[in-house]
Amino acid sequence: MDKQAVRRTLDQLAAFLELQGESAFRVRAVQHAARSELLATGRSSALDELREQVPPGLAEMLRIPGLGAAKVRQIHDSLAIASLADLEAAAGDGRLAALPRFGTKTAENVRRGIASLRRAGGLRLFHHAWDESEAVRRALAGLEDRSALRVEMAGAVRRRCEVIGALELVAVHAEPAARETLVRRLGQAPGVTEITGREGRVTLRFASGTLVDVLLTTPDRFGLDWIRATGSPAHVAGLESRARAMGVSLSVPFPDEPSLYRALGLAWVPPELREGNGELEAAARDGGLPRLVDRSDMRGLLHCHSNYSDGTVSIADWAAACRAAGYEWVGITDHSKSTPYGGGLGTEDVARQHLEIDAVNARASGLRVLKGVEADILADGTLDYGPDVLDRFDFVIGSIHARFGMSEAEMTRRVLAAMDDPHLTILGHPTGRLLLQREPYAIDLEQVLAKAAARVIAVEVNADPHRLDLDWRMVRRGRELGVTFSIGADAHSTGGMTNVAVGLGIARKGWLEPDQVLNTRDAEAFLTFARARLIAAG
Ligand SMILES: [Zn+2]
Ligand SMILES: [Zn+2]
Repeated sequence: MDKQAVRRTLDQLAAFLELQGESAFRVRAVQHAARSELLATGRSSALDELREQVPPGLAEMLRIPGLGAAKVRQIHDSLAIASLADLEAAAGDGRLAALPRFGTKTAENVRRGIASLRRAGGLRLFHHAWDESEAVRRALAGLEDRSALRVEMAGAVRRRCEVIGALELVAVHAEPAARETLVRRLGQAPGVTEITGREGRVTLRFASGTLVDVLLTTPDRFGLDWIRATGSPAHVAGLESRARAMGVSLSVPFPDEPSLYRALGLAWVPPELREGNGELEAAARDGGLPRLVDRSDMRGLLHCHSNYSDGTVSIADWAAACRAAGYEWVGITDHSKSTPYGGGLGTEDVARQHLEIDAVNARASGLRVLKGVEADILADGTLDYGPDVLDRFDFVIGSIHARFGMSEAEMTRRVLAAMDDPHLTILGHPTGRLLLQREPYAIDLEQVLAKAAARVIAVEVNADPHRLDLDWRMVRRGRELGVTFSIGADAHSTGGMTNVAVGLGIARKGWLEPDQVLNTRDAEAFLTFARARLIAAG
């Protein structure tokens, strides 16, 4: 790590510590210890742990020019804001300007800072890209003169990739002559400040800084163009070479996607699978494509933090929200006692929480609350409650929240050892990555997945859009090995329930079918899965 990189890392470390209210003295002490570690290994365990503790939205806010830790803390504490999107809204509606020591000028600078972050970043997280694409799609679809007959999302957003570069849409206009009108109207759409481009493809720049590529097409070419604008290069190349081999011309009309796939002897391929990973071969066989898991299959919500640890929602409110969302059961999983950040449950807290869950279950109808825990996997691979405490839970998620800097061999040994504990039901966020922020820790996933399959331990697809961990490529590998998965909302508020849709995208990209996902089982079947290893262990 060069000197500049070390300085940047130490600055970030200081900002995180200040965000947590640490004193200047403590900041200097931690920086001092981290400097030698960074020079020796290029990694700081203190920073890795802070990245785990600081809500990712606040870490993003720290990247806004001119917004230091003190101001971010003030914004979070007084306006309860923890995401760029919420901050942008507050900067626009006067709430930010009204804060002591802020004013309209600072609010405007924050708004501009967010825009420049978007421009500079190049890559954004899926949920940000989805929200932006959807807003643009609606704005364009709502053009009053109906010059756009149809506007659809395309590109990596439609494929539900974990991080997104370009935002891409397809817009259909009536006949070739109508293209000019459509281009003119696109340039006048709400928020568009600039339109550039050539025949058939334009780029819109929005006041927010967002760039969106729009492919312009006619109804008879829509099927082909939507497929081209959606698929990965490998998927599109595969289709083209198949067309050549079969002597099928792609210049005849394809008004929709299924008609093109059909012409090539293929079943329609769900967008999430269009990565060039064997989906065309599967689509050529009868029933060769998986029946992908979707929201209607989901009966249970897993990985929810309550106000017993670092969540904000009471047990009763979790139950009510899950019932309203159509779930049959919810697994509450607060942090265990040694989680490095606040709020891990001591033994008495566990007893108190279980009484409260019993009370809620006694009153509730139509929803069952299950007693889970997100237990830390300690450095030696043990779970940080003893068996007597673990026995009191219905199920256990085991996760790593500290000591990320181990070698691959040590880390693999640590996780494999945790899998020997018959209490472990689910391995939580298996690589610890934070997208665009922190690399996964070194671990031999092949060994971990093989053991999970053999021991019938579920592996989590953590649906927090900052994590999306396990990576979908390895989900696919786990599926081949026979691993059972869970989709973990990792929700700290009821708003976090929307994570499930993002996690489903990753599960689908990993080709998962309903019976490979624990959340699709009823509560009894889920509990049977959780107890099976304890019973076998006697
Ligand atoms: Zn966790
Ligand atoms: Zn969690």
